[in-house]
Amino acid sequence: MASTLTDRLSRLVKTMRGQARITESNVQDMLREVRMALLEADVALPVVRDFIARVKEKALGQEVVGSLNPGQVLVSVVHKELAATMGAGVADLNLAAQPPAIILMAGLQGAGKTTTTAKLAKHLIERRKKKVLTVSADVYRPAAIEQLKTVTRQAGAEWFPSAPDQKPHDIALAALDHARRHFFDVLLVDTAGRLAIDEALMAEIRDLHATLNPIETLFVVDAMQGQDAVNTAKAFKEALPLTGIVLTKLDGDSRGGAALSVRQITGAPIKFAGVSEKIDGLEVFDADRHAGRVLGMGDIVALVEEVQKGVDVEAAQKLAEKLKSGDGFDLNDFLAQISQMKKMGGLSGLMDKLPTQMTAKAGAADMDKAERDMKRMEGILNAMTAKERRQPALLMDGKSKASRKRRIAAGAGVQIQEVNRLLNQFDQMQGMMKKMKGGGLMKMMKRMGG
Ligand code: GDP
Repeated sequence: MASTLTDRLSRLVKTMRGQARITESNVQDMLREVRMALLEADVALPVVRDFIARVKEKALGQEVVGSLNPGQVLVSVVHKELAATMGAGVADLNLAAQPPAIILMAGLQGAGKTTTTAKLAKHLIERRKKKVLTVSADVYRPAAIEQLKTVTRQAGAEWFPSAPDQKPHDIALAALDHARRHFFDVLLVDTAGRLAIDEALMAEIRDLHATLNPIETLFVVDAMQGQDAVNTAKAFKEALPLTGIVLTKLDGDSRGGAALSVRQITGAPIKFAGVSEKIDGLEVFDADRHAGRVLGMGDIVALVEEVQKGVDVEAAQKLAEKLKSGDGFDLNDFLAQISQMKKMGGLSGLMDKLPTQMTAKAGAADMDKAERDMKRMEGILNAMTAKERRQPALLMDGKSKASRKRRIAAGAGVQIQEVNRLLNQFDQMQGMMKKMKGGGLMKMMKRMGG
């Protein structure tokens, strides 16, 4: 299993501690990692090149704020650009036509056209309250016509019969006539599969398109196709004015890089994602979430953004300065870190956003315990005087440390051992914070959760 982009960048980030912005010199190494991650996710090479150039332009000169480091900032830039490239926002089906709105399905054999036709029928019935008719123009495989009949029934839509001895053109016209006369809102037209790009079949689907003048021409593509998706997409784009893409089999183990390639090459928005063989295994495509999948980093970017949002940037910078200048990280800072974490939804809220490999170790029970510990820690810190928080030495090796600790324990309603434990943790964290010079709330959390 390839390491995730986040892992790769974290390694690099160690070598660029304390750098305040992304520069021509430090961006090169990071971009190399991004490039590798994209290639591993099966994004086509020319698409990767283009993409990297855009990211570089956007990243250069970006300030690195607060508890973020250049690697995290770059991840954020990459994620945003990925999501933008794959189409920000949600693009649902356009049905604004004189009824019936016609949707033509195109794609290679096995891509999932027939399955997706039925899934879309179900989606249109349930979500958009439409009356839906399906028809198969695949006259080469009688089984395909039967398959559509079966899945259309499962979807609760109506199926228009067709037969192998008919011409696709005639089937289309007959279905359209039926749809008009029976007031269907939508006509979904499944077409013959191609094992590979085949000129005769391309001519046939072009003819179907001209006959039907569909409002939506959807290109159905298998996410597992990876690099090959590019050539297929190119051929279909040249043959047809595509209005949207359905990316199927995203439940497989592909990293979904095909999304980026296909989107870039066709220019058409990815409208839906197939996520299982079942009839309800269709989701409206979410570019943001998919960007995270391509990079193999969970919602780490959401986390980075939340850190930016939730953290008082000025305070974070002050803290970073303090650490850089060698002044100690004190218990006030410790308390501030805990409050910031609480502001961002607590540990479990944050952990949810991290890639699973990072949090797999921490079960829900552990998380509850960690949350409770955090609250108790906060209670203990609040029972200290401001002076004690500023000078932890008073509690660690001061003359009156025993009586101070007793007082704090009583104030927080805990055993004295807990005060000791907190001081130990603080001591460890102080060492760690010095090592990373303000780099990471994230690393601190990893340690607390792991
Ligand atoms: P067509 O030749 O393009 O019409 O493809 P089919 O609709 O017959 O699908 C080919 C195979 O892919 C079938 O076994 C489907 O069950 C399967 N399939 C289609 N979409 C998905 C999906 O989103 N996830 C999974 N796991 N399988 C899918």
